[in-house]
Amino acid sequence: MTQITGNLFILAAPSGAGKSSLIRALLTKHHHGDLCPSVSHTTRAPRPGEVDGEHYHFVSKAEFEAMIERGDFFEWAKVFDNYYGTSKAAIDQTLEQGKDVLLDIDWQGARQVKAQRPDTATIFIAPPSAEALRERLKNRQQDSDEVIEQRMTKAKAEISHYDEFDYIVVNDDFDTALKDIEHIVFGQRLRGHQQRQRHRTLFEALLGG
Ligand code: GDP
Ligand code: ADP
Ligand code: 5GP
Repeated sequence: MTQITGNLFILAAPSGAGKSSLIRALLTKHHHGDLCPSVSHTTRAPRPGEVDGEHYHFVSKAEFEAMIERGDFFEWAKVFDNYYGTSKAAIDQTLEQGKDVLLDIDWQGARQVKAQRPDTATIFIAPPSAEALRERLKNRQQDSDEVIEQRMTKAKAEISHYDEFDYIVVNDDFDTALKDIEHIVFGQRLRGHQQRQRHRTLFEALLGG
C-alpha cells in the first residue's frame, strides 16, 4: 500500500502565551510517535537543561551560515538576535514515514513554510488578555521586569501577524486550548485527499459492481 505522507503543523505564539506548555502536553498525550516534534538548529546558547540534538541542534553562527549557503534549510529566520532554522532533514524523513510533524517556529518561518507547502496547518496561540500574558511571564520567574517589558513589546509584533494563520486558539483554560489543538490535528488527518488514499479499497468496493 502507498504510504500516506504525514501532515505538517505549525504552532506560533507570542512569548508567554503557553505554547511550550501546550506542545509538551500534546506530545505527552501523543507519545506513540504519530506526532513528532521537529528539532531546529539555533545559534543561541543552550539554556540549563537543554540537550543538543533533542531541544535544538546548537551550532555556531559560521556553521549556520554554511548551512544556509548549502541550501540545507526548509526555512530559517532571525529571532531575538539569533538564527533559528528547520533543516530539510529534520522533517522530510518523518513525513515520508507517514508521521505528522509539529513545528514550533515564529511567524517569519510560518510564512516561508506556508509558501512552500500550502497544505500546512498553521496555528496561532493567543493569550486571553495582555494582563494575563504579563502575569504568565512574571509567574514563569525566568526574566527580570525589564526583559518582561521587552517581551511584551515583542509580543505585540508577533500578535500583529495573527491574521496570517489558518487556526487561532486562545489559551485561557489550558485543557480547552489543548483540546482545540487536538481537534485541529484530528481534522487535518481526515481531509479528503488523505482519506481517499487510506480507504481506496473501501471506495472501490463501495462503488464496484
Ligand atoms: P517562545 O517559545 O516563543 O515562547 O519562547 P520563550 O523565549 O518564551 O521560551 C520558551 C521556553 O523557554 C519557556 O517555556 C521556558 O521554559 C524557557 N525560557 C524562556 N525564557 C527563558 C530565559 O530567559 N531563561 C531560561 N533559562 N529559560 C527560558
Ligand atoms: P511560551 O512557550 O508561549 O513562552 P509557556 O508554555 O512557557 O509559554 O507558558 C508561560 C507561563 O504561563 C508558564 O508558567 C505556564 O505554566 C503558564 N501557562 C500556560 N498556559 C496557561 C493557562 N492556560 N493558564 C494559566 N497559566 C498558563
Ligand atoms: P526559544 O529560544 O525560546 O526556544 O525560541 C525563540 C523563538 O524562536 C520562538 O518564537 C520559536 O518559535 C522560534 N523558533 C524556534 N525554532 C525555530 C525555527 O526552526 N525556525 C523559526 N523560523 N523560528 C524558530
